[in-house]
Amino acid sequence: METPPGGKTRMLSVEEALERILALVQSLPVEHVSLLDALERTLGENICANEDIPPFPNSAMDGYAVRAADIISASRAQPARLRVIGQAAAGQTPTAVVEPGTALRIMTGAPMPTGADAVVRFEDTSESLFSPMAPGDDRRRQEIEVYAPVARGDNVRAAGEDIRAGETVLTAGSTLRPPEIGVLASLGRARVAVHRRPRVAVLATGDELLEIEEPLRPGKIRNSNEYSTSALVLRYGGIPVRLGIARDTVEDLTNKLRAAVDQAVDLILTSAGVSVGDYDVVKTVLGQMGQMNFWQVRMKPGKPLAVGVIAGIPLVGLPGNPVSAMVSFEQFVRPALRKMEGRRGWRKQTVWAIAEEDLENSSGRRHYMRAIVTERDGRYWAKTTGDQGSGILTSMVSANALLVVPEDVRFVPKGDSVLAQMLD
Ligand code: AMP
Ligand code: MG
Repeated sequence: METPPGGKTRMLSVEEALERILALVQSLPVEHVSLLDALERTLGENICANEDIPPFPNSAMDGYAVRAADIISASRAQPARLRVIGQAAAGQTPTAVVEPGTALRIMTGAPMPTGADAVVRFEDTSESLFSPMAPGDDRRRQEIEVYAPVARGDNVRAAGEDIRAGETVLTAGSTLRPPEIGVLASLGRARVAVHRRPRVAVLATGDELLEIEEPLRPGKIRNSNEYSTSALVLRYGGIPVRLGIARDTVEDLTNKLRAAVDQAVDLILTSAGVSVGDYDVVKTVLGQMGQMNFWQVRMKPGKPLAVGVIAGIPLVGLPGNPVSAMVSFEQFVRPALRKMEGRRGWRKQTVWAIAEEDLENSSGRRHYMRAIVTERDGRYWAKTTGDQGSGILTSMVSANALLVVPEDVRFVPKGDSVLAQMLD
């Protein structure tokens, strides 16, 4: 327990607790992975383009490559007539040269032929009058009528209009979403450097816990925290290393934590055993094995939290109540994982929502209330999921947000705005 002079345990604010946890973790080294394995991970290198993208000027439309000057006064009443000198499909390189008075039939993505400076789309030519012909059958396309002018460059994609050779396209620290994956593919990057995913030991503690396959017995409950916590680890980019259940004895807990250390994990998460009950041995063992602080955080749920380091590995002891464990994870473990993954930011998205009911907070702590936020009439509205007990895990099932009622606010009347931390 952190006990300041005077003897009373000081409660940390959520911000202070988070800052101290983040100080214990660093971004992990990079590794090279194949492109699709990099999805949702953090880029560990700057990406510089070796080529222009697109690499050559090409048609943005199915139409005719022309010289804009030839059709400057074309109209329906007075069409311009051009001699068709051939055609180009995507993937081909046209050799024909578009001289004045001529046009080359061209498909989207085909390189622009020499001489042409614009593309007129089929819809503005007599092509639209033709019924589809078999490929190679170009009997009726000796000459084409054009009904509308185009400006130079119209319907042409210039070389390098997306990416210029030499340009830094993506910087280290970016999250690789589907568009970044696409850009890397267009640059020919089959493998890419990303920060290693954190390996996270997940250890439940408690004499009352059963494996989830076991039938219930008197006095026992199933170990749900191992699963909700491991699922959160996966969701936020980590690799859970499940260590099962430690019994509430110094010996068993010590052995299980040694196993975590042996697995060379980057972070250890325990659940339960950190409050003030008779069998809360986590504190004793952590104190013996490393440097440990037991904190009370000015939040509800999730007041008890153990944080420290054993054998050089940071450890967060989450509270045992299923909702508290998840809320504490969102506030403290998720940012730590994000930092280890090399991300620049780790804030959850928040919105201001209008309370659809009175909200009470008599705790003097920051209250994270499970809530349903909906959008109506261009505004966000929030109502709680009902019973806010820290054992009501189904309240997390119906919630899509946590309402953040500040520690010094005792009452938010219906109709007032409240900050909502979105969970999804
Ligand atoms: P404790 O902090 O050990 O007093 O645990 C607080 C509450 O959380 C008790 O009701 C425990 O039974 C419950 N609990 C502890 N660990 C788990 C777990 N792994 N899964 C579900 N509930 C748990
Ligand atoms: Mg317990």
